[in-house]
Amino acid sequence: MKRIYNFNSGPAVLPVEVLEEASRGVLELGKSGVSVLEIGHRGKDYEAIHTEARERLLRLMELSAEEYEVFFLGGGASMQFAMVPMNFLPANGTAEFLHTGEWSTKAMAEARRFGGVRMAGASEATRFDRLPSEWKFTRGASYAHITTNNTIEGTQWKAIPEVPAGVPFFADASSDILGVKRDYSKFDLIYAGAQKNLGPAGATVVVLRKSMLARVPSTIPSIWSFATHAKAGALYNTPPVFAVYVLGLNLKWLESVGGVSAIVEKNERKAALVYEALDEFPGVYDPTVKVKEDRSTMNITFRLLDANREADFLGGSRALGMDGLQGHRSVGGFRASLYNAFPEEGAQVLADYLRRFAGR
Ligand SMILES: *Cc1c(COP(=O)(O)O)cnc(C)c1O
Repeated sequence: MKRIYNFNSGPAVLPVEVLEEASRGVLELGKSGVSVLEIGHRGKDYEAIHTEARERLLRLMELSAEEYEVFFLGGGASMQFAMVPMNFLPANGTAEFLHTGEWSTKAMAEARRFGGVRMAGASEATRFDRLPSEWKFTRGASYAHITTNNTIEGTQWKAIPEVPAGVPFFADASSDILGVKRDYSKFDLIYAGAQKNLGPAGATVVVLRKSMLARVPSTIPSIWSFATHAKAGALYNTPPVFAVYVLGLNLKWLESVGGVSAIVEKNERKAALVYEALDEFPGVYDPTVKVKEDRSTMNITFRLLDANREADFLGGSRALGMDGLQGHRSVGGFRASLYNAFPEEGAQVLADYLRRFAGR
């Protein structure tokens, strides 16, 4: 099979080794005589998959199982937009957000259903073409919330803002979890849809500081209560078994290639290849993020100054085996997603193409 260079933003590229092992698991899990699709979620085979995935995730995030719970839930990061305030935003409380794009818009909209929402900082005035340059979180806020990487707009927090002591700090890390150098212990809750940088669609990872569980009200529906999932050992109901299985294989792959520090170096090289090519031709390309330090290493967004050449650009990229370069429908232009599993060679192919196209 000839693999394309898959620049899609999610579901996104996975390592071939992971796809091969997952395919074998679909036929037979080890020597068990059953497919991974056929095993019970309370049996020892799944227990091993679940435990291993949780342990690898915490190890890669440099967090301890004494301090943090790990849940593999359904519903996507979008469900967390509602589940997080349902658990941690009382009606008389205020959640404070750094407003940096479409995903923070959605997170705030859901939080407003439960309590107060305040923007601690925003870059909407410049249409999210950078991160906010100033912000202020308030002592006593119910929690502070940040989107670590803005998948659609192409900005990424390199240094994480400080929040006042005692304010729980939450992150939507869907599109850069384990793809960037990060001190995750600064956070009390981290959530991420798996389908960007962790695995296939179907599982959403939530990593929660255990001390937060005492704040969960007993009145909310069981399935949406983090306390329920914690009490049930993260197996309250049937988890997305296959997605957790592939996520676990992907984390194993990440460890096998040197872990987060090695992949971050590779990610930085890939992003530099593409940004350098874009920056060489300011008369052709318009990188949409206007402050260089805010540029994402995971999602590179740009436009053509001559929008009439867009179809030509896309057609030429497809002819060279590249796919998924179209920007998000809400912003247009182009987006190259360079997640952990995206090969360095593909970034070079895109950089070469950007130079050739600019010269035409
Ligand atoms: C994709 C994405 C989401 C939404 O994820 P779903 O799993 O589709 O619900 C939320 N936040 C960020 C930062 C994303 O990239």
